This record gives sequence, C-alpha cells and structure tokens, in this order.
Amino acid sequence: MNYKYIGSDEAYPAYSPSEPIFMERVMEKVERKHISKSGYVLIWDGFRHKREHRLIVEKELGRDLKETEVVHHIDGNKTNNKIENLALMPRKIHSLVHRAMERFYACGNSSKRRCVICQEYDKPESMKREKYYGCYSHVSCRTEQRRKYKK
Ligand SMILES: [Zn+2]
Ligand SMILES: [Zn+2]
Repeated sequence: MNYKYIGSDEAYPAYSPSEPIFMERVMEKVERKHISKSGYVLIWDGFRHKREHRLIVEKELGRDLKETEVVHHIDGNKTNNKIENLALMPRKIHSLVHRAMERFYACGNSSKRRCVICQEYDKPESMKREKYYGCYSHVSCRTEQRRKYKK
C-alpha cells in the first residue's frame, strides 16, 4: 500500500451520474492525511485513523508493531516520518531517551542530573542518589535542607 498523500481531485475515480459510486473503490484511492491534536500525522484508511510513523515502520519490518513498541522521531519533529528519522524501541527505553533529551536541551549534557533540591544540573558523581526514589541531590543541599527542617 502506498501512503503518499493524494490531495487533488485525481484521488477520486471519475464520476459519471449513470454509475453508482462504490465506497470500497473510492476509499482504495483516497488516503486522507491530517495532523492529530498531539502533532502526529494520521492516515485515514477508510475505517480508522492510523499513525503514519507506525505504519511506515510496520511496512519496513513487514509485521505489525506491538503496543509495547514505540516509534521515536529522532529529530523531535513528529511530522518528519522519513524512515531514517524513525527509531523503533521498547516503551521503557523510549522514556529514558526522552529524559536524556530533556537534560540535553536543559543543560547541554545528557549525562548530567538535576538536583531535586536546588534544581541545578550537575555531574552525578558530585551528587548523592536517593536509594528509594532514585533522584539526585547535592550533599550540601541535603544538609542545608535538614538544617531548615530542624528550625
Ligand atoms: Zn520519542
Ligand atoms: Zn543542589
């Protein structure tokens, strides 16, 4: 199946009043494409909307994607669905990738972590990691916070 957008009237078969329109034939040629509220390209296949980036990867793999598989847009542009801009990964890895991207955009270094107390980004070596929550903070920030609570 070809997912290219056909925006002109050519998408519709020639209509002559003597001939009834068969919906299946119309839908075979019409592939409606639009952008969803969340910014993804959706393709109308005649029954429901499908996310174009997932369709493209499914076509490349020759199989359906599992719900646990996520297609990530490498350049961050949700409408750039060229195959070289798409990366397939498990949902868990995808959220890690996005967190690393957020850190990169925030401080220019994805390996830095944010101190939960002073909100500054720093190397994880110069901070302590909370065992239970897994969040980072400066030792000095913790000491100061503890002192504040005592008052
Ligand atoms: Zn992503
Ligand atoms: Zn701090």
